[in-house]
Amino acid sequence: KAKSSTNHYYQVFDATIKNNTLEILELETDLRIALKNQEFHLNYQPIISFNTGTIVGFETLVRWNHPQKGFISPAKFIPVAEQTNLILSLGMWILQQACQQIRIWQDRLNRQYIDFTVSVNISGKQFEQEDFIEQLDQIIADTGINIKHLKLEITETLLMNNTEIADRIFKQLKARQIQLAIDDFGTGYSSLSYLDRFPVDTLKIDRSFVSRLDEENQASTIVRATLDLAHNLGFNVVAEGVENIRQIEQLKNWGCEFAQGYFYSKPLDRDSAWQFLQENLINTNAIQTKLII
Ligand code: C2E
Ligand code: MG
Ligand code: MG
Ligand code: MG
Repeated sequence: KAKSSTNHYYQVFDATIKNNTLEILELETDLRIALKNQEFHLNYQPIISFNTGTIVGFETLVRWNHPQKGFISPAKFIPVAEQTNLILSLGMWILQQACQQIRIWQDRLNRQYIDFTVSVNISGKQFEQEDFIEQLDQIIADTGINIKHLKLEITETLLMNNTEIADRIFKQLKARQIQLAIDDFGTGYSSLSYLDRFPVDTLKIDRSFVSRLDEENQASTIVRATLDLAHNLGFNVVAEGVENIRQIEQLKNWGCEFAQGYFYSKPLDRDSAWQFLQENLINTNAIQTKLII
């Protein structure tokens, strides 16, 4: 009796795995078609300075609108794209699109004293490619962007699993003065002593810690320690997933420089992003003009 119930358990277990495998296979097929049919587009989520209350840039987030299945979250399809290496062509397409958009905004803002940065998420698979830097150089040359507008985001987990590759690629990126951010910081259990070897500009505190600021003392201890560490190493800090004024008050008090989250804005399509940029740059302009005069 005991044996048959064990078998039964394994049958159920197998069925779940098969379903998942099928789902992944289907997603892979759909991703290939989506790449060919250009079903992807980019959204841009504003990043705000606590000091001035104005926008300093955007994070680029990929969106997939499947013709039959509707919106599919990147949290679902990016891992499959990574497993199947489709992230290599998708990632390059994203970088190309982001740089084209930078070029458009850069030209429009040309005569104003304005700085803004567009961040692009780079997956580990892309990073490991021998010709990653070569391809990046090509895109930068083709789009003619000013390099100061580009920032690359690499997750903490990726960094810790690929320290040698990271060391090599970061050097090449820094030689080109491309800015770097460590994404989802706090989720990777990294040895903190490692951090000072990476020439990064920005550390992004993961949303899970910011959201827990509302309930747990422990989260506030971790966030403050992270801010101290980052500042001692000369990094600036973006808090991810800021949703309410209480979080903002705390983060600001503790010296956090930047915030990104629904409180300020959800990710926007490119037209809304341009509108947001203009509306929130009027202030910046006034401040900068004053400083310049
Ligand atoms: P991420 O890089 O940490 O991006 C931040 C995620 O948090 C985004 O989810 C964003 O929409 C969400 N978010 C921002 N503010 C808030 C908030 O206040 N509350 C809540 N609940 N969520 C907020 P999204 O767009 O679904 O992306 C999920 C993840 O998928 C990203 O996490 C990133 O790891 C990956 N991803 C997205 N776009 C790309 C891409 O172009 N390339 C690569 N390689 N990965 C991407
Ligand atoms: Mg990111
Ligand atoms: Mg992040
Ligand atoms: Mg995150």
